Amino acid sequence: MSNTFDITIIGGGIMGCSTALQLARRGLKVALLEKGLIGAGPSGKSSAIIRQHYSNELTARMALYSLGVFQDFENRVGGECGFTRTGFIALAPRSDSEGLRSNVAMQQAVGIRTELLSVEALHELAPAFVTSDLVLAAYEPDSGYADPYLTVTSYARAARDAGVKIFQEATVTGIDFTPGAESPLGSVSGVRSTAGALFSPIVINATGAWAAQVAALAGLEAPIDSCRVQVAFFRRPPGQEAVHPVVADFINATYFRSETGQITLVGLIDPSEAAAIVDPDKFKESVDDDFVMEAGSGLVNRYPAMEQSQLTGGYASLYAITPDWHPIMDEVPRGSGLYLCSGFSGHGFKLGPAVGLMMADLVTGESQPEFDPVLFRFGRFAENDPVRGQYEYSIVG
Ligand SMILES: Cc1cc2nc3c(=O)[nH]c(=O)nc-3n(C[C@H](O)[C@H](O)[C@H](O)COP(=O)(O)OP(=O)(O)OC[C@H]3O[C@@H](n4cnc5c(N)ncnc54)[C@H](O)[C@@H]3O)c2cc1C
Repeated sequence: MSNTFDITIIGGGIMGCSTALQLARRGLKVALLEKGLIGAGPSGKSSAIIRQHYSNELTARMALYSLGVFQDFENRVGGECGFTRTGFIALAPRSDSEGLRSNVAMQQAVGIRTELLSVEALHELAPAFVTSDLVLAAYEPDSGYADPYLTVTSYARAARDAGVKIFQEATVTGIDFTPGAESPLGSVSGVRSTAGALFSPIVINATGAWAAQVAALAGLEAPIDSCRVQVAFFRRPPGQEAVHPVVADFINATYFRSETGQITLVGLIDPSEAAAIVDPDKFKESVDDDFVMEAGSGLVNRYPAMEQSQLTGGYASLYAITPDWHPIMDEVPRGSGLYLCSGFSGHGFKLGPAVGLMMADLVTGESQPEFDPVLFRFGRFAENDPVRGQYEYSIVG
C-alpha cells in the first residue's frame, strides 16, 4: 500500500532529515512528515556553529564525526551545506582554566585537532579581541559554521533521492497503537496527519521544541521545554571586513561568528536566556531591544571595534530543552516501536550527521560502540543520572 512504510519520521529539521537519509540508505521505506516547510523551523534558523569543544567524550566524538561530514558534505550527503572554516576559540574565566585544560586533553584523546593557546598566541591569532581578562584559550583550527537552511534542505533532497517520501505542510495529529506488545501502550501502528493516515511499525518523534506536544499524542510525558532564544546581527565597521573566528566567550556569556556580508552574528550562552518557555506555535519571532543591548555589549567587551558596528537585524527561534541540556534518543516506551529524538538544547545542529547515524542504528538494532546512545536514554531523569560533563562552563554540553 502506498501509505505503508517501514518507518515514519515526524519532523523535518536536521535530526529528522539526517535520520531519514541514513535509514533510506539502509534500504528501508521511510516517510517524513513536516508540518511547515523543510528548513523553515528552528534548524533553518540555527547559528549552525560547527565546533568540537565538548565536555564529555560521547558528544565530542559525535561532533568530530559530524565535522567530517560537514567538511565533505557533497560526497557524504550530496549538495551543499555552506561550511566555512574560520577556526573556533573558547574563552573561559581564570577560575575554569583547569576545566579548559582537562576538556582539551579529553578532546585531543578522542582525535580532535584542538590546542591550548597562551594569551600572547591568542593575541597574534585575533589581534582585534581583548585578551587582558584571559589566562588561557582553546583553539580548533578546523571548526567554523555552516549555512543552516542549505544544510537541512540538502539533507532533505538527499533523503528524497534515496527514496524517502517527504510530506510538507503535513501536521501529525495522532499516533496509533495496536495492543499486544511488551510495552504498556502496545505496538505503534502509524500516525494520523493532515495529509492522511500513514502506517508503519516504527515512528520517530523528531519534532524539536514540539516533541512534548507530539509525545502527548501518545499519552506520554516528555521532559522537553520549548524556549525562545534570540540572535542579533551587526555589520562590522570599515577596517574589520575580514572574517573572524567563531568565539564562545564564557566570560561575557556570548558567542559570535562571521556571517556573509561583513556581518557578525551574536547570541547568548547564558542558560537563563532559555528560561523563556513559550508556546512553539505562538511566540514573538522578532528580536527584543534588551537582547540587542545585552548581546551587543558582550560583543563589544571582547571585540571593541564593534562599538562602531551597525545593527542589521535579528530574530527569535526555539531551543528544545531537557533538564540536563542533552537530548533524548530512545525507544519510549521500550518495545513500542515509538522513538524520541529531541531535546538538543541549543547545541544540536553540529551533531546532526552523527544523530542520523545513531538513530538509524537504534532503530535497526545495529550498534557502534563509540556512538552508544545509552547516555541519552529517557529513563536517566527518573534515575537521577543526568548527563554531566567532567568540567562545564555554561553550555558546553
Ligand atoms: C537561534 C538558534 C541558534 C542555534 N545555534 C546553534 C549552533 O550554533 N550550533 C549548534 O550545534 N546548534 C545550534 N542550535 C541548536 C540546533 O539548531 C538545534 O538543536 C537543532 O536544529 C534541532 O533540530 P531538530 O531537528 O531536533 O528540531 P527542529 O529544527 O525544531 O525540527 C523539528 C520540526 O518538527 C516539525 N513539527 C513539529 N510538530 C510537528 C507535527 N505535529 N507534525 C509534523 N511536523 C512537526 C517542526 O515544524 C520542525 O520543523 C541553535 C538553535 C537556535 C534556535
